[in-house]
Amino acid sequence: MIDCIFCKIISKEMKSDIIYEDERIAVFKDINPQAPVHHLIVPKKHISSLSECTEEDKGIIGELFLKAKELAEKEPNLAGGYRVIINNGKDAGQAVFHLHLHLLGGRRMPWPPS
Ligand code: AMP
Ligand code: ZN
Repeated sequence: MIDCIFCKIISKEMKSDIIYEDERIAVFKDINPQAPVHHLIVPKKHISSLSECTEEDKGIIGELFLKAKELAEKEPNLAGGYRVIINNGKDAGQAVFHLHLHLLGGRRMPWPPS
């Protein structure tokens, strides 16, 4: 995916603050953090959005959420709770069309989100 910034981050063509990676997942700090902790958890496979996921992606979707939980449990700032978000599509605010989970916390989060 030539023009996908997250694919470029995954391939190290673009610099980012990667805090975890394995064969299937990369996690890096959001460049414009909305909370004291704001990590992006992404599959290395390019999937443009949750809408594009299929049965074939069941496993990776589970891995993304379990990685969010695992990282949150290691982060003292998230002891009081955290939020995991997927923005799907333009109206939801999706700006980068490579599937990602936002792991956010370290401050009180209003609900409902605006
Ligand atoms: P979304 O609006 O759900 O598509 O989220 C995209 C997120 O990617 C935003 O929170 C951006 O701040 C973040 N972002 C965009 N470019 C980069 C980058 N080069 N490195 C890290 N995060 C980025
Ligand atoms: Zn991509």
